[in-house]
Amino acid sequence: MPDFDLIIRSGYDIAIGDGKFAAVGENLRGSAREEIDATQLLVFPGVIDSHVHFNEPGRTEWEGFETGSRACAAGGTTTVFEMPLNAHPPTIDATNFDAKRTAAEANSLVDFGLWGGLVPGNLGELEGLRNRGVVGLKAFMCNSGIEDFPSVDLATLREGMRIAADLDLLVAAHAESQEITASLTTRYRTAGGTEISDYLASRPIEAELEAIQQAVDCAVETGCRLHIVHVSCGRGVELVSAARKNGVDVTCETCPHYLILTAADMERIGPLAKCAPPLRDADEQDELRDCISKVDTIGSDHSPSPPEMKRRENFFDVWGGISGCQHLLPLLLDASLPNNDIARLTSENVASRFRITVKGGILEGKDADLSIVSPETEETITAHSLHYRHQQSPYVGRTLRNRVIRTILRGQTIYQDGKLGARRTGRLVRPTRQ
Ligand SMILES: [Zn+2]
Repeated sequence: MPDFDLIIRSGYDIAIGDGKFAAVGENLRGSAREEIDATQLLVFPGVIDSHVHFNEPGRTEWEGFETGSRACAAGGTTTVFEMPLNAHPPTIDATNFDAKRTAAEANSLVDFGLWGGLVPGNLGELEGLRNRGVVGLKAFMCNSGIEDFPSVDLATLREGMRIAADLDLLVAAHAESQEITASLTTRYRTAGGTEISDYLASRPIEAELEAIQQAVDCAVETGCRLHIVHVSCGRGVELVSAARKNGVDVTCETCPHYLILTAADMERIGPLAKCAPPLRDADEQDELRDCISKVDTIGSDHSPSPPEMKRRENFFDVWGGISGCQHLLPLLLDASLPNNDIARLTSENVASRFRITVKGGILEGKDADLSIVSPETEETITAHSLHYRHQQSPYVGRTLRNRVIRTILRGQTIYQDGKLGARRTGRLVRPTRQ
């Protein structure tokens, strides 16, 4: 009988047994059913992508757990947190949570946590969502683009955060000011604006900063744990960081596209690069990169749509969302973020902020989730290589320098050398309550 199921050897060895990390240390003794020589490879804790939109149930023609989770597995992601708005019905009460959980268990190759929604009218449902095990509540401070997931006014956000604080739930905010973005959108549209430049001008950094400040103020008033998702600029990160220094329990996320693509790329690539907040100028991107040490998590914000929703005459009418979950890890490696930062931003910090204690690092007793990368192995992204339901992404044509060669979820290989696992191995993850 071998001692372990798998040992990954690189001098600092990792042994796996019964789906958990069984031992970690220098030159481990013992035998295993399989050994991997990782001396020439990079080994990361399984990526936890805390921000994906898989749109199931109800909108699987946009994506769905099956295709979305396969794309994740192919890119080294072992757990996703799925956003509440694009499913139909949206995840705003316990019944809808159950419907999504059932769909995910039937179709997901990777583990999943589920976000609940905070919308006007569902404050009475938040406790039910907490009891089901949502990873947090997501609120939009501006139009979400989805009719049955309305944005919160400040009074609703404040009251929702008060309840969330009592329930010990984290609230995540899409922070762009409705007042500023709606007024500028109306101004540019009535003036006949239809171009990418008009869209960019309608969502300035000031709209983001204003909303971040408002959300932080609500966190101060209510004591609620706050997470600002997809911060696009350094000033936004600094605002969050300054609040945290003042004792506010607030963290922030950014996304690969804000680190890799710029407003000029949006102009060049067009609809596939449309997102909100929008891509920023190169100077702003430099500022964001300079303060990456103050960023807490990185998520892909994979937000797909059917191709026809990307084909509109008027750029304002194009679906805003970037398909990118398949390349989260390789993109960050290409962006030259240090490996330790990548592990922290995509796994350790995510697990600790969301209290997923079974995951988040290569440590004895935790789930044996790993992403194994072959460095300096070039791969050009083609539409054909995408596992998404719709084979579109602003990254098609880009050559990546690092390739994920194997993804391990709870000790099981779910992706290896281009081949995906066939079984739906994904399980629900829930925060540990304190
Ligand atoms: Zn999103």
